[in-house]
Amino acid sequence: MTSVNLTIQQLTSSAPGAVCTPDLAQGPWDFDTVPGYGPGSSMHDTIPASAPRQGALPQEYRDASDDELHRRITAARETLGRRVVVLGHFYQRDEIVQHADFLGDSFQLANAAQTVPDAETIVFCGVHFMAETADVLAKEGQRVILPNLAAGCSMADMADIDSVEDAWAQLEALYGTEPDADGRVPVIPVTYMNSAADLKAFCGRHGGIVCTSSNAETVLEWAFERGQRVLFFPDQHLGRNTAKKMGVPLEQMPMWNPRKPLGGSSGDELLDARVILWHGFCSVHKRFTTEQVARARAEHPGVRVIVHPECPMPVVDAADEAGSTDHIRKAVAGATEPTTFAIGTEINMVNRLAAEHPQHTIFCLDPVVCPCSTMYRIHPGYLAWVLEELVAGRTVNQVSVPDDVAADARVALERMLAAKPKSAAGTPQAPTTPAAEAQGR
Ligand code: SF4
Repeated sequence: MTSVNLTIQQLTSSAPGAVCTPDLAQGPWDFDTVPGYGPGSSMHDTIPASAPRQGALPQEYRDASDDELHRRITAARETLGRRVVVLGHFYQRDEIVQHADFLGDSFQLANAAQTVPDAETIVFCGVHFMAETADVLAKEGQRVILPNLAAGCSMADMADIDSVEDAWAQLEALYGTEPDADGRVPVIPVTYMNSAADLKAFCGRHGGIVCTSSNAETVLEWAFERGQRVLFFPDQHLGRNTAKKMGVPLEQMPMWNPRKPLGGSSGDELLDARVILWHGFCSVHKRFTTEQVARARAEHPGVRVIVHPECPMPVVDAADEAGSTDHIRKAVAGATEPTTFAIGTEINMVNRLAAEHPQHTIFCLDPVVCPCSTMYRIHPGYLAWVLEELVAGRTVNQVSVPDDVAADARVALERMLAAKPKSAAGTPQAPTTPAAEAQGR
């Protein structure tokens, strides 16, 4: 299977314009000590000063070949046995995915974190907010490790607790706190899974809920039963695309810019609002355009265009369908005739789908290879390091949410886990890998 890593190295040497930056050919450790998200889709986003940093990866892991790292990871996993479970997000590179016990999107992996009671340690090959969520949902005594602490999420970083509490205070001053005649409170906070644990805790404290791209519609229905309107953060696109699909008019979805009084809207606009959209976005999915959709249709008559709902609304409208990573995976797997798919999501997942389904023609809508900057930070060198440290009896890179934050976040997450996606049960995809089979999972 061709990994995005090898693809990038080949492209940077033969066709420099085919990747968004030649820096992608370097090891992620080259960026651990410099500020910023590193090469990839988020490289031009501003990283908060408070974002976790990764210390230097020991030289032996940087120097090791891919084969050596594979052997060392496999050996460490055999030694650790069922004491360790490895979770892998769909956007991870193939060299990581092959070692995962469970592969899934953030909703599925949140479920998976709850279904491994025998594991002392959850190694989360994803990004920081996912590891935090796993820690919140983990059993007593379980610990969660993120192989590279610099694997954050630029979208998650676009909303912070101070800005959200400030917005909430302004909205309470405008709306008051009394429920209407139907018992619905003025506003319900809904945070996307892609947010820090303290924002999930905020939602838990204020009668709100967490959503994922799998269950966003179910969650908004839940919120509208309890509230007159929703404050949705941090991804404006998921909020807008989901609410529009449910029939909410665009003029009732004002944007909240945290740098402006009342988020940049008038009091009347906010009083009429059904969904207030935070000014956040995913830099991976923002790259997709309607021009790319038109080009795919012109060059591949009959192409089926599927995009992720983090894409801008015009792209979702131009596509044939939109859905979570799990929806995309199932759509491809469920096609009974050879089909051409143009997919609007992260390149690692698109490449993997293409390799797994050779009967179909599958390509990424974006012709420029530009992976998620932070998913890219999880390299086999870091996975080998954290596992071998565990073998030696040491825990590195533990992600731990303070108890008071975790208690409130758990309230909002448990509401989310009860809000099943409309088209899927949300169970993790497992076992799919040699690692999973070896562990009997
Ligand atoms: S793909 Fe987008 S939302 Fe997902 S981790 Fe990367 S930056 Fe964050």
